[in-house]
Amino acid sequence: MRRKPKHEILFLNGKRNGDESVAVTLIPGDGVGPEVIGAAVKVIEASGVRIEWDRQEAGAAALKRYGTPVPDALISSLRRTRIALKGPLETRVGEGYRSINVYLRKTFDLFANLRPTRSFPGVSTRFANVDLIVVRENTEDLYAGIEHQVTPGVVESVKIITARASTRIARFAFEFARRNDRKSVTAIHKANIMKLSDGLFLKCARRVAADYKDIKYSEQIVDAACMRLVIDPSSFDVLLLENLYGDIVSDLCAGLVGGLGMVPGANYGDRGAIFEAVHGTAPDIAGKGVANPVAAILSGAMLVEYLGHQEAALRIRAAVATVLRGRRVRTPDLGGKSSTDEVAAAIVRAMKHAASSSAHLAKPE
Ligand code: NAD
Repeated sequence: MRRKPKHEILFLNGKRNGDESVAVTLIPGDGVGPEVIGAAVKVIEASGVRIEWDRQEAGAAALKRYGTPVPDALISSLRRTRIALKGPLETRVGEGYRSINVYLRKTFDLFANLRPTRSFPGVSTRFANVDLIVVRENTEDLYAGIEHQVTPGVVESVKIITARASTRIARFAFEFARRNDRKSVTAIHKANIMKLSDGLFLKCARRVAADYKDIKYSEQIVDAACMRLVIDPSSFDVLLLENLYGDIVSDLCAGLVGGLGMVPGANYGDRGAIFEAVHGTAPDIAGKGVANPVAAILSGAMLVEYLGHQEAALRIRAAVATVLRGRRVRTPDLGGKSSTDEVAAAIVRAMKHAASSSAHLAKPE
């Protein structure tokens, strides 16, 4: 018999009871980060899950305050807690320090980036019922950051693909598919051009696919896959991608469900995880209090589930769905006029209302 679908996959140490407090590193981040992470913390706290937040700076905020974008205190905190809720971090284009996101994912070997992309009733988009899972390899590819100038006017970037990382991420995608009752995994590639690197990625995916006969496996060239995604997203289920294609395709998928303010994410390793929305620092709206907090709040729900509080995670997701369905309280990116804090407050109210209605229903007549 097939297992009942669960919303997400991973628990750190199995289920916990509601009274146990867990230490989690909190990285508000740059730009809209502190605004949306503040909203996520309020919602998580209202869900009843007890977390002892260890607040740490990183990125541009840390550079300004401590003279480094990766302070030692941040790394020690992550080594201790092994779990973080993180806001976006600024990385300058074409200059400045290397991405701290990439550094953290590599340092803690958070090899799997999971980005569940789902539509919500009440959010007007081209398609209803989009339900895509983007699984992105997180540690190598062009993100290895090996670049050099061969001679003035000529630079080289090295794309690293290994059998170890490709096999590991393929196994993660198939395992996720099996545990969550998903039907298919599509490996997305450009092996017609990058025959060795993407070719190796595909070879590994095919080898892993052979162990999961219950899940349909297919392959698509990345450009054709993008076209098919915007014409018929329902023809995909779990998408398995290398690092760079994964980054690009997940923003495309975000566009299918209302934009970057809607899609949560998690970076999983064998011994820890960092939860963060897909979006960046959104410099154009930072400081205005209007960033959509839904992506950060849903990332918080993934964190809560990882800690073993599945019921609380479901309550958070249900409250987000209630508020979005109501169409009344929403940020400008979704066509509304509400602030980040107003959306968070409405989600907290929806959660409390649901709790009091179910307590009322449970009362004997
Ligand atoms: P971005 O995601 O910050 O913004 C793209 C567009 O989406 C902007 O118009 C922005 O206003 C909108 N948007 C993003 N999040 C939103 C939200 N929560 N609510 C409403 N609208 C939202 O991408 P960008 O402008 O390409 O990047 C800005 C900075 O963020 C760069 O320094 C980049 O390196 C960094 N970045 C960080 C991460 C991360 O830390 N994980 C991810 C992506 C980009």
